[in-house]
Amino acid sequence: MSVTIDQAFVTRQRERLIKLERELQENLSEQREEYDELARAERVEPVDEAQVRMDSHNRGALRLHDEELLTRVRSAIQRAEGGRYGICAACGGPVLRERLEVKPEAMFCIACERRHELE
Ligand SMILES: [Zn+2]
Repeated sequence: MSVTIDQAFVTRQRERLIKLERELQENLSEQREEYDELARAERVEPVDEAQVRMDSHNRGALRLHDEELLTRVRSAIQRAEGGRYGICAACGGPVLRERLEVKPEAMFCIACERRHELE
């Protein structure tokens, strides 16, 4: 298995990232619409307040996750366009190709990401 990151790989990953970006944007705008509907419904008939609060809390967390992912996806696209794709943003070392296959938006090598998580 090849581990080198060549231009064809970067191009393919960039396409995947752009698709992912579009999906996330769609999800987020759908979530925003649902959230607005829920907010409207709440005002009209306050059914079970605790339940409604819980639902909007969960939705909020989900949305935050998607927004964070979208930010990472966008910076990965920029990195791909700037020729820095597959280079760890922290140590400048290589990010393994198999890691990028699983997580195309990865910006750090495994060692740096672990360090990051422990902090
Ligand atoms: Zn690193």
